[in-house]
Amino acid sequence: MELIRRQIGAATIAFTDRRGGSSLPPFDGLNLAPHVGDNSDAVTANHHAVAAALGIPEAPWVMPHHVHGTEVLTVTGRLRDGVEADGVATNRPGLLLAALGADCAPIAIANDTASAAIHAGWRGAANGVIASGVAAVRRLGRGPVRAVVGPCVCAAHYEFGAEMLADLVARLGPEVAVTTDHDTPAFDLRAAIRIAFAGAAVDDVEILDVCTVESPDHYSYRRDGVTGRHGVVVVQG
Ligand SMILES: [Zn+2]
Repeated sequence: MELIRRQIGAATIAFTDRRGGSSLPPFDGLNLAPHVGDNSDAVTANHHAVAAALGIPEAPWVMPHHVHGTEVLTVTGRLRDGVEADGVATNRPGLLLAALGADCAPIAIANDTASAAIHAGWRGAANGVIASGVAAVRRLGRGPVRAVVGPCVCAAHYEFGAEMLADLVARLGPEVAVTTDHDTPAFDLRAAIRIAFAGAAVDDVEILDVCTVESPDHYSYRRDGVTGRHGVVVVQG
């Protein structure tokens, strides 16, 4: 595993990849998702490996089942199995908040004293999951809000239906419509995420330059179909 680490306020942020870990093909190796058909013992071992790499082996892993919605839960401890949401936020130190992706974007949002882990694909980004995450962090903490957007599908690799794309352009603006390298309509998820953060008045947004379709070290649903999930983990200090 090679973690891409960031710090915002007291929050430690790390983006995972698929290297190392205990999962076997086609989920090899550091799959963090229990819902994709992987062996659950392997997924649990992978969660422990990430927590250990962050130096907090006993931290509770707090991760809802993502449903491409807009709900961000405020959490103070472990979630029941199967709780559905696309983000978790807290101001409580020591929880390991996690959000997953495999072309969708795992995103960390934090201010000086609160933080959130969010999952955003085109639905979530267009419908308001980012505004929900920013609002939760503002409600729970203080100071300027900053965000880091993790590995996700790039615009050139996100071929999209023309009709749906036109609908998203009408809702979000012309900058989300691009074309693939073979001139078919494509959706710029990163642009949509940038627009959502601007709409929530967040100025400082870092977008990591890693395309999941291109990177062999990341999971890509569009490339591989049955596959695992990498993600972001956020630990409030
Ligand atoms: Zn790409």
